[in-house]
Amino acid sequence: MIIQKSKVKSQKLKPNAGNIRRIGIFGGTFNPIHNGHLLIAEEARVSLKLDKVIFIPSANPPHKEVSDLVSGRHRLKMAGAAIKNNPFFSVSDIELKRGGRSYSIETIKTLKEIYRKGTKFFFIMGADSILEFMTWKNWEDLLKLCNFAVYPRPGYKINLDVLKSRMKKKLLAKSLVKNIIFFQTRVFDVSSTEVREKIKKGESVKYLVPEGVIGYINKSKLYK
Ligand code: ATP
Repeated sequence: MIIQKSKVKSQKLKPNAGNIRRIGIFGGTFNPIHNGHLLIAEEARVSLKLDKVIFIPSANPPHKEVSDLVSGRHRLKMAGAAIKNNPFFSVSDIELKRGGRSYSIETIKTLKEIYRKGTKFFFIMGADSILEFMTWKNWEDLLKLCNFAVYPRPGYKINLDVLKSRMKKKLLAKSLVKNIIFFQTRVFDVSSTEVREKIKKGESVKYLVPEGVIGYINKSKLYK
């Protein structure tokens, strides 16, 4: 299921705390993956001391309408090209293989089966997503199974206190609030929508998207 760095399972790890392995999960449509995604994943890895970050392109994102969605195969290849120089990054096709709507709860359950006990998962998400996650399928179960690693997004000024008070009303298990961790990071102002629009207009996306991804987009004539 991991297409890049297939040594994931056999890899000798250097866990941080005792024997606990810390894995970041970064899901998205990645249509295409861009440097904003890569920067966040790297910042999360460093500040949360993650052993690795797995990028998981979604089949059909349940929470958003996407225009110009290219095939899962293309998005997977672009993600693979983007991460190839970072030994801490992998790409997984588990959501694409499962097909249908990509529910995070199903993804995390699958990952829990694949990885041994003692692995801690950190679901990396922007402050925009944390505000709506209570609408996600089985969101409370999801929060029991993993940690949420939340980073700021411009325009979404949410802090833990605000979130806590909102969640206290909703959460059955109040102790779950501790599973939500905020980390500070700079944010690179770019979106896949902007990248697609620029390509359509024939404008440069250099430095917004990794070179390997640009090469793949050109070769496959995507987003024209
Ligand atoms: P689109 O423009 O097509 O909506 P996107 O750029 O938001 O796409 P996604 O693949 O939907 O990209 O993003 C995956 C995750 O990355 C989402 O949680 C999204 O909020 C976040 N994200 C997107 N762009 C950035 C960025 N520049 N910096 C930090 N996080 C980002």
